[in-house]
Amino acid sequence: MIYKVISKHEFRKFIDALVRSNTSFGPRRVDTDSNAEPVYQFQPVTSVEDVAFDYSVTKSSAKHFFLPFREELSRFDIRDGEWEQKINYNSDPVVVIGLRACDISALNILDDVLLNGHFPSPYYLARRKNTFVIGFDHLPMADCFCKSMNHHTVPTGFNLFCSDIGEDYYLAINSSKAFNFLKEFETREPEYEDNCRLVERRKEVSNGFKTHIDVTGLPAILDIEFDSPVWEKWGAKCLNCGTCAMVCPTCYCYSVDDSFDTDMKGASRQKRLYSCNLVDFAVVAGGHNFRPKNGDRLKYRYYHQHRGFAENANQQICVGCNRCGRACLAGINPKDVINDLRMEKESCMKCVSSSPDKR
Ligand code: SF4
Ligand code: SF4
Repeated sequence: MIYKVISKHEFRKFIDALVRSNTSFGPRRVDTDSNAEPVYQFQPVTSVEDVAFDYSVTKSSAKHFFLPFREELSRFDIRDGEWEQKINYNSDPVVVIGLRACDISALNILDDVLLNGHFPSPYYLARRKNTFVIGFDHLPMADCFCKSMNHHTVPTGFNLFCSDIGEDYYLAINSSKAFNFLKEFETREPEYEDNCRLVERRKEVSNGFKTHIDVTGLPAILDIEFDSPVWEKWGAKCLNCGTCAMVCPTCYCYSVDDSFDTDMKGASRQKRLYSCNLVDFAVVAGGHNFRPKNGDRLKYRYYHQHRGFAENANQQICVGCNRCGRACLAGINPKDVINDLRMEKESCMKCVSSSPDKR
């Protein structure tokens, strides 16, 4: 890692040059919500003026640059009773500006799943390698809990990460590409005062969290609370819409379907992002549904986020962005569900320890 300091004025020149010569996406204001708050999304940007440097959070995460909602895995040409399969792993270079630390942590988690496992995805690899990621730090929103998940800072997974230290940005340069791009612009070595301002900024970010969730021992609590009434309680509210998984930066479940062209001369195999909250997610051949109840489906999403992966890779895959909580029309959010489970477990333990008869 190389560290530099750049004035905000010079940084804007850098971003402008970058987005004018590359296909780029950044946070843009796209709407206003019912509370008159601005709505931001990652959208195409072609000049620095398009980039909302002061944005709060995007409704959807940046995962769709790496895992599109719908992706063609292969094409089939059918001729004279024979067929030929064509697969295209290529991906055009893209710049994505403005990811938060937790968004980049989410990419690192997706890397673990989709690149570092036994069967790396060449589709994901092509996009990940061809995407130039620029991160921005920010003061947390009132409902962010990424500090609880230890994802409020990120050490790797980006090309460039910018910390706001007042008149300047403190840059962490994590790739030769970023270093070479920046050579054309005026940067300087960090001085003692810059380092102090960075430390102060990090403290400000860290102390800015208002939402805290106690996730210690959560995988074990989930094991204990497999049959908890908490799942029925929250499941009864769930609309099975799948929105939570769509906006989540780490949900990666998908389905694959084949379709024929209407002239029967070709076919396509497509992958679609899916959600374990959808009613048919666990339906198998013959029509049996392994998870017919709302509560069971909701439970499995929490198990995947906070237990299943933790057991395999020693980490929970939720990064604490709370996009799912903000997007859920039924008012279901990780803080309330996890707190309920913890209370359930604690009341259970109290009951056991205060009742000698039950020993
Ligand atoms: S938890 Fe909320 S967002 Fe997710 S499927 Fe249920 S209603 Fe939809
Ligand atoms: S489960 Fe919710 S809070 Fe956790 S990473 Fe996904 S969207 Fe963010």
